[in-house]
Amino acid sequence: MLYNQILVRFGDLTLKGKNQKVFLHSLYKLMKTKMEGLNVEIENQHDRIFIHLNNEQVEKVIERLNLVSGISSYSLVVKCSDDITDIKKTSLQLMQELVLDNKTFKVNTKRSNKAYNLHSMEVTKIVSAYVLSNHKKLTVDVHHPEVSLNIEIRKDACYLYNTEYKAMGGYPVGVAGKGLLMLSGGIDSPVAGYLAMKQGVEIECIHFESTPLTSIESAQKVVDLVKKLAKYAPHNKINLHMIPFKEIHMALLEHIDESYNITIMRRMMYRIATKVAINNNCLCIINGESVGQVASQTLASMQTINAVTNYPILRPLCTYDKQDIIKISKQIDCYDLSIKPFEDCCTVYVPKAPATAPKISKAIMYEKNFDYESMVDEAVRNTNSIVIDCNSDLDLTLLGLEVREVLKNM
Ligand code: ATP
Ligand code: MG
Repeated sequence: MLYNQILVRFGDLTLKGKNQKVFLHSLYKLMKTKMEGLNVEIENQHDRIFIHLNNEQVEKVIERLNLVSGISSYSLVVKCSDDITDIKKTSLQLMQELVLDNKTFKVNTKRSNKAYNLHSMEVTKIVSAYVLSNHKKLTVDVHHPEVSLNIEIRKDACYLYNTEYKAMGGYPVGVAGKGLLMLSGGIDSPVAGYLAMKQGVEIECIHFESTPLTSIESAQKVVDLVKKLAKYAPHNKINLHMIPFKEIHMALLEHIDESYNITIMRRMMYRIATKVAINNNCLCIINGESVGQVASQTLASMQTINAVTNYPILRPLCTYDKQDIIKISKQIDCYDLSIKPFEDCCTVYVPKAPATAPKISKAIMYEKNFDYESMVDEAVRNTNSIVIDCNSDLDLTLLGLEVREVLKNM
């Protein structure tokens, strides 16, 4: 293969003026950690980053590149000198390698080195003429070419490429600070976490687990989802805070009117999440809520649930269509895990008629039925915090989570 480098573009970042330096440094660092273990070098050139392939398997490098937020697109490129004879020869070689059957083609030249002795159009003409006369399978089509030969003349050298591939986009994860993702085992919250990371927010995760009311498999599913998300995290690692939620869950079933059960359960979750966020320097809470999907996600419900905290809550999916969420879920390889049928705390003992417009005053009234504050503090105190690596395996029974059989008769 003639290609010897990958040219990396980061469209969004160039717009950011004086923040650009910070972004670029974060992106460079992120790329470096994602490329660990591969025999490549990363060269930072202010408006572009180049990856020197050093004969490393290109598929492997691209697989890693697709995990880096902040990259808008990339191209496999051949680097040659900016001498026009060299550009002509290398262009022909590249076309000979890429085009074996009859194809139409077009040359596009970009010149970021304005001091170069030829104009873009002149380069295009010279190279097209040379390639056409030496490659018998090519003809020109400037409107709908099947193959493009792109020439980028920069200060240090010239780069030739055929295709520009779309990458993750967004901002380098971490550059926006850290947030706490409320992660259930469902489809939505992992997607919300991914979108937050893509927007530059590093995440820690919080999961409310009610084992043995819920199965240990449902907790394992959450760990497996964190592993999937950890591929995008700065060091391939994410902190997961497992909150023992069984006691609160049972207290709710005992003391709260069925129609308000979910509302108050979610108020408890928000209270605990706020404390855990503060304890772990997370600047916001992120969740997978979307407007109107279920009773607890009507706007009236959100207001009553949200009233327990003044912490910023990001809901990346609030206006997303379910089909679009599923598409992203599949793309990040979470879907098959998410649809595994293990119940979580929101799916056991689902009330028959949850309030769709719960009132804050009523919620407060019901909450007076039990001493929830001490239970919230107790849950926070007993948090099981674990670091999940994208490659690690973890046996949850080692964390003391109980297997369901113990309370079979409940
Ligand atoms: P998901 O697909 O993410 O489970 P959902 O559409 O099923 O979302 P809900 O069950 O009402 O909606 O939950 C809304 C959001 O609350 C979830 O997206 C998640 O962010 C959070 N959440 C729900 N259950 C838990 C839990 N057990 N632990 C942590 N967060 C949770
Ligand atoms: Mg759910």
